[in-house]
Amino acid sequence: MEFTLNEQQQMVEELAKDVAQNAIAPRVEEIEKAEHFPEDLVKLFAESGFVGISFPEEYGGMGMGHIEQAIILKELSRVSPSTGKMLDVMLLGLEAIDLYANHEQKVKYLAPCISGEQIVSFAFTEPETGSDPKMLKTNLKKQADGTYKLNGVKRFISNAAYAGPIVMFANEEGADGQTLCTGFVFDKFCKGYSISSPWEKIGYRGSEVYDIFMDDIIITEDQILGKHGDGFTQLLGTTAYGKLGFTAVFVGNMLGATDLAVKYCREKLHRGKSIAKFPTVQLRIAEQVTYAKTAELLLMHAADICDNNHFANDDVATMRYVQSFTAQAKGYAAEMAPKVCQMAVNSLGAYGVCDEYQVERFLRDAAIAPNIEGAGDIQKLIFGMFILK
Ligand SMILES: Cc1cc2nc3c(=O)[nH]c(=O)nc-3n(C[C@H](O)[C@H](O)[C@H](O)COP(=O)(O)OP(=O)(O)OC[C@H]3O[C@@H](n4cnc5c(N)ncnc54)[C@H](O)[C@@H]3O)c2cc1C
Repeated sequence: MEFTLNEQQQMVEELAKDVAQNAIAPRVEEIEKAEHFPEDLVKLFAESGFVGISFPEEYGGMGMGHIEQAIILKELSRVSPSTGKMLDVMLLGLEAIDLYANHEQKVKYLAPCISGEQIVSFAFTEPETGSDPKMLKTNLKKQADGTYKLNGVKRFISNAAYAGPIVMFANEEGADGQTLCTGFVFDKFCKGYSISSPWEKIGYRGSEVYDIFMDDIIITEDQILGKHGDGFTQLLGTTAYGKLGFTAVFVGNMLGATDLAVKYCREKLHRGKSIAKFPTVQLRIAEQVTYAKTAELLLMHAADICDNNHFANDDVATMRYVQSFTAQAKGYAAEMAPKVCQMAVNSLGAYGVCDEYQVERFLRDAAIAPNIEGAGDIQKLIFGMFILK
């Protein structure tokens, strides 16, 4: 079994490390304090090919795979998990469009995001649910002229304050009175679109989330993704690949905290001797690195499965297969990220909890890992069901 990256993947890794060290690291403080991710860095992601990395060249993408995507997200998050999260939610929205939009919709929505002119959002969560489509309250109502009126509230939506498309899921009444979950895409800041002030949260402070209010937004038939009623399948399909993105962010988060802990332990002296000589310090670092590396191996295994198992709209079996392994990797990384970052903080003692030493930022970001894009517990349930079926 080969564990080395091929030449293309090594080049992608070098570029991602370069962007992380030279463009992101000097601006981490600015990114965290502004609580608004700088648009010029989104442009840089686009120019570096990061936004379009795994999308077709026909729409301006690089035509590479999920392994390359995972490498980029991991390396950016190793310096700034907020930055990794920012790019990841863009990739999630674009994944939905790439998987389920028709050619015209891809030309209209995919291409301007890949070029960095627009920033996409992905909106499922509502005040009453983060994972159950039966609980959705956002509603599409058909009008006499064949258009739809969209009303409702979406909660915790990333990138809602940037111009660009938003992929959304809402309920509508089908012909036989049945409730359908339907996916569609429209432009943010159209008539009837407004947002709250950003939520103040423990971490990912450089990448803000909002509630979105929809008041009689007009949706037309050409904005519907695929067929009416396919929304939940589209959500599962998008997140089957999408779970990989946040796994990469969590792995980068763990590795970044570990890098800082290793550096500190090598440099810190106690009674004139390096603390790196203490067996307890060695033990803690060994555990940290082992958890982070295990998560990284699961990430790369899941990325390889994504790249070797493409699924069409109605191929639920392959989608479930991919989803099981991305869920396995995400469930493990989501559980380990806070643990590894807490160990990193402890390696620095009191300095670990001080802003200046940065490890506390990694711990705050990691605290969100079990609570984003589907709870961490649910990832384990998905993988458990797959193993036991
Ligand atoms: C920083 C940030 C950014 C976000 N960005 C977006 C975004 O861009 N778009 C978007 O749509 N959403 C976004 N979200 C929302 C996020 O995806 C949801 O909050 C997440 O999926 C969890 O849903 P919930 O909050 O409703 O929690 P719940 O699903 O209600 O979970 C609460 C608890 O109940 C448990 N639980 C729930 N259901 C089950 C079950 N079936 N079996 C076992 N246990 C269960 C969970 O394990 C958890 O402990 C974001 C959230 C954050 C924090």
